[in-house]
Amino acid sequence: MSTVSDKEEGLENSVAQAKANSKRRSPRRQRRSDCIQVQKESSPLDQLKQLLLKDDRQRIVVVSGAGISQSAGLSTFSDDKKGLYAQAGKRFGLSDGSHVFRYRFLKDRPSDCFQFFYKLYQQAIQAKPTLSHKALQNLMNQGRIQHHFTLNIDGLHAHAHAHDSQSASASASASAIELHGTLHQLVCPKCTKVFSTAEILPVVPSQPKKRKRYSIPPTCPHCNDTTTRLRFRILMYNDEQPNLIWDHDPLDNNNNLQHVSAVLWIGISFQQQASCAHFQKVWEATKRNHQMAQPIHYIINPNANEALQDLQSVVGHLGPTNVVTVEATSDDLLESFAFSSD
Ligand SMILES: [Zn+2]
Repeated sequence: MSTVSDKEEGLENSVAQAKANSKRRSPRRQRRSDCIQVQKESSPLDQLKQLLLKDDRQRIVVVSGAGISQSAGLSTFSDDKKGLYAQAGKRFGLSDGSHVFRYRFLKDRPSDCFQFFYKLYQQAIQAKPTLSHKALQNLMNQGRIQHHFTLNIDGLHAHAHAHDSQSASASASASAIELHGTLHQLVCPKCTKVFSTAEILPVVPSQPKKRKRYSIPPTCPHCNDTTTRLRFRILMYNDEQPNLIWDHDPLDNNNNLQHVSAVLWIGISFQQQASCAHFQKVWEATKRNHQMAQPIHYIINPNANEALQDLQSVVGHLGPTNVVTVEATSDDLLESFAFSSD
């Protein structure tokens, strides 16, 4: 494991090497070096690619959101017309579509809530992992990313991981940690047993002959009690049963966020309270758990500056030196790592 002193030593060595090289350089070579120095003033996107490509002494943590699954054809939350909030508002007559993700909605309208997530599940199982999902898995396998937390419930990270495990990379590391749970699992609030969604429900609900063979929400096969209904293993806002998703919030585990040098927030708009709360938690934990330089937080999003403004309106102003906005899609950043084989 690399340490801060390793990093400093590495830096000193490279400075000494650079000095030695510059003494040996011919004037012609020096001119070329000047050109290279100009190129070093690269965009934040290029700097970030370099960080992922070359600097394996960095401890990098990724937190990903809906933007990463957008090129797989899945909706984000707050797109004006096609977003999940707009869809839910229209379908269930809610003045604020985001209420579909509240525990209150699950409690008051369990059948509508279940139908909503069931539809999302059907979309998710037809989607394929994007280049970004594959790239993030590659980078994890190579040890360049230490931890990957995702706010996404579509299971595409797990899909990329499962595919990778079957391929040549037998040493495939862990998959992403799904902070908000997954559409691919159902859980019983009574006995807490977790089921694969595919095990309980047909993929296509509109097969007339099979329609009556299951109820919505389904009963728990383990409890055998008709009054106990399964719910999707997805964390709702103000969830009164958060233990069904996690015993402990993975972001509270200090080992996950120790000595982190960079945190990449990819495809997150910071328009949801939950993502701002996660940022605050990671920001505080990485600050606390780092003895030397503070980690840099990169916000990677086509509207990164807007996302930063939204974030700061919730968590307050963040120091300018520790946050870098990168106006790019996740595929712009990660595409070149998707087919990497080393
Ligand atoms: Zn049960």
